[in-house]
Parts: sequence; structure tokens; C-alpha cells
Amino acid sequence: MLPPPSPHEQLVFLDHIQRLFEEGEFVATYKYALLHAITELAIEFGTDSGDTLDLFHSQIADKFLEVYWRQVVPYRANDEGGVLIQNKGRQAAVIVLLQDIRGRHGTLPMARASQEWRVAVRETVRLLKEMPLWRLQILRRQESRFLYIPGAGPFIRLLPGVMFNLRRFHGLLQQLIRAAWTSHIRSNPKNAALLGDRDDLEEVLFGTDRASLALVKPILKDLQGDTCFYCQRRLGEMGEVDHFIAWSRYPRDLGHNFVLAHRRCNGDKRDLLAAIEHLERWRNRNVVQGATLKRELEGQFVCDEPTTLRVAQWSYEHGFAASSQSWQRTGQVVPLDEGYRRILQERFPTPPDPAATAA
Ligand SMILES: [Zn+2]
Repeated sequence: MLPPPSPHEQLVFLDHIQRLFEEGEFVATYKYALLHAITELAIEFGTDSGDTLDLFHSQIADKFLEVYWRQVVPYRANDEGGVLIQNKGRQAAVIVLLQDIRGRHGTLPMARASQEWRVAVRETVRLLKEMPLWRLQILRRQESRFLYIPGAGPFIRLLPGVMFNLRRFHGLLQQLIRAAWTSHIRSNPKNAALLGDRDDLEEVLFGTDRASLALVKPILKDLQGDTCFYCQRRLGEMGEVDHFIAWSRYPRDLGHNFVLAHRRCNGDKRDLLAAIEHLERWRNRNVVQGATLKRELEGQFVCDEPTTLRVAQWSYEHGFAASSQSWQRTGQVVPLDEGYRRILQERFPTPPDPAATAA
């Protein structure tokens, strides 16, 4: 296992990233989506070492399509509505492909399970190889391989230290990608009429899908016995769906990451990591009720428990390294306790299912 990159090497990486964004030759938004995809894959499949990481072209293409999925919904600033243009020329090919699939299948998990999705992944692999995969590393018209090299097969290999840096600087990268992507779409004259003077573009492009989240409420309410996930008191209201690992840390709707909480509890927790007692309850919930959750939600959301666990490990590991505070209850935070490691181990002791004992 290679050691993490030195502080100097991390700075060199950030300098490359800065140059990538300064470069004004982004014809389409593909490069942003590609960087987003690779970063998220490094979190989901990587570790915090300086090692290389191999990512299959098909894996990148699948993630790439997912990144664009929510962006093919017509944007409605006026009565007409329409899909935002992601390219300075004709509409980006990926968008056209996805629009058709979304029209047929409606939700991401349904689309993913379809034959058309597999075709789209193949088509996207072709597109990635033709266009953005190699162009992402052209800085000031010169190729500068600072992220990856082609693998000896259908994959790319992230260079030593890159996986670590993508995981370490994920928050910063997200912000850069969103800002640049939003501004690309806004500055495209073809979108002007559609956008009007509304200022919710970033939220529409990258926010969580509130309408879909509403569907989760009754399911969680039932599973949690009408109590708030955090304070354990009776809900007494519809409550709010909270991303246990906050959306700002990992902006992706995974079924096992949802909990239902009082509006007040959710609002106070915000982007913080939940304290260890909540983490234990959450892990417990996913072990005991994970299968039920998957059954209820998989038509609507991606339900992938192992990935959810790895994301939590990454999130708590980085929170601990940064001496983060964790959220305990309204108005109270405490330093993050090292006990998260035991809780997030792969093999978590399975507690008895209360429902089974009752029966
Ligand atoms: Zn509460």
C-alpha cells in the first residue's frame, strides 16, 4: 500500500485542478460530469491510501449517466418549459439518449434495470473515449496526465495519490464543479429564454428531488414507529426526510441513507455528522430493516447498502481527521468519538429483530 501524498503533492494536485477550471475551452458540460463521476467513484470504491485505483469505462459511463439523469427533467420558468441545453452547439448527445429513457422508465432504478440503459452505457463509453476522457487532462492545450492513464484494458488507472486527493478534497471539487456547470448553462444564449430571471438553477441542477423524497415519508414513518429518528420522541407531524450522511457531503439519494426526523431536529443537524449514538442506531436500522427498506424504495431510489456503508466510512473518517464536531441534539454538538470505527465495521453484530420477537 502506498502512503498518502505529501502536503506538497496535494498542493500540486490542487494547482492542476485550478488550471483545469481556469481553462475556458469547455464546449459541453461533459468535463464537469466526468470529473464528478470519477470523484464519486473514488469515494465509493476507494480507500484513503496513496494507491492507484482502476475504474472501468462502463463504471464511469454508468455514473456519468446518473449525474445527468436529473438534468433531463424539463426546466419550467414559464408555461412552456424545456430541457436545458448542455452544449454550445447542438444538445449534448447524452441528454438526448437520457430523455428518451427517462420518458419510458420514469425512475432511475427502473431505467437502470432496462435494456436501453445498457445500450446507453455502451454508447456513453464510446462518447467518453472519443471526447472528454482524454480532454480532461489537456491544460493550456498541452496534455498533462495528472489524474489517470489508460489501463491495459477497458479501464483507466487513477495515478498514485489521485484517489486519496479526490476523497480528501471532495467538498471543494463539488463546489467548483457546480459553480462552473451552472455558469456554463446560464451563459449559453440558447438557455436564456428558458431561464428567464429565476435564480434557482443550481438547486434545480444539483439539489435533491424534493417531490420524490415526499414519497419516502410514509414508509419511514411506518418503519420508525411514528418517532423521530434522532430524538426518538413521537413525530406528531409529517416530519422531514433527512440524508443521514448530509447531501452537502455526498449529493446522491441512496435509499439506506434516508431517515425521518422532526423538522426542528433535521434543521438543527444541517450538514453535521450525526453523533455516535445516532450512527449506531442508523447502522442497526440498516442491518435489521435494510431489506425492507430496499423492497419499499428500490423502485424509486438506488438502494445499495454496501456502497452506503463505504460512503459513511469515508465521511466519518474524514470528519474525524478534521476534528469535526458531531451533532447530538438540538443546540448540542460534541467532538466526534473514535467509536465510529467499530460501528462502521463490515461485520456489525446483528441485533435481534424486534418485529420477529414480537411475532
Ligand atoms: Zn426529533
